[in-house]
Amino acid sequence: MSTGKLIVITGPSGVGKGTIVRSLLASNPRLSLSISATTRKPRPGEIEGRDYYFVDRHKFELMIENDKLLEWAEYAGNYYGTPKDKVEKTITLGKWPLLEIEIVGARAIKQIYPSALRIFILPPSLAELERRLRSRGKDSEEAIIRRLARAEAEISASQEFAHCIINDDLSKTIKKVEEIIFSNAT
Ligand code: ADP
Ligand code: 5GP
Repeated sequence: MSTGKLIVITGPSGVGKGTIVRSLLASNPRLSLSISATTRKPRPGEIEGRDYYFVDRHKFELMIENDKLLEWAEYAGNYYGTPKDKVEKTITLGKWPLLEIEIVGARAIKQIYPSALRIFILPPSLAELERRLRSRGKDSEEAIIRRLARAEAEISASQEFAHCIINDDLSKTIKKVEEIIFSNAT
């Protein structure tokens, strides 16, 4: 039986991870998105179970205690984590779990699944990252400032990743991500 392949897409908030992931999922049925749990409040248009499992801090802490999370991190004042059961089931089914997570979680995954394929998405510049966060128009000013405050340190962490792509032209980025995923196919 195939052991599957676990793919991690990481990088600073606003760089385009979600946009890239949506495109990958639409054209690659072998990929299966891992839906994270978070204590963040839903943004307008976000749907429970499609975008995230929205939980309160108490429930999230219970998930940690009961070992229900593959990895988790605190990011900009909220918890985010990857439920273990769905990822394990995806691998059992011979599909490839796709995780869209921040850097602390991406580091943790390397410890758990050393063969995971981890791809770091970089912005063309910090100014463009800020422009994208603002143009998305879904976060409060406070949330944008907290995300930008982490961005420089996150960008430095890209050195830890074997695969780094600057997301300038979106369609070229998607093509490069697909090349990495499928050229490393098992
Ligand atoms: P993340 O999931 O990393 O937080 P998003 O996918 O939400 O980022 O993208 C943030 C904003 O940047 C969105 O408005 C998206 O449409 C835009 N965006 C993504 N990639 C590009 C790109 N290559 N060029 C210009 N804008 C982009
Ligand atoms: P957002 O609030 O913008 O949806 O997400 C904030 C950050 O948390 C993003 O960088 C996103 O990739 C990350 N994130 C989402 N889910 C998870 C998760 O399960 N684990 C970790 N470590 N980070 C996550």
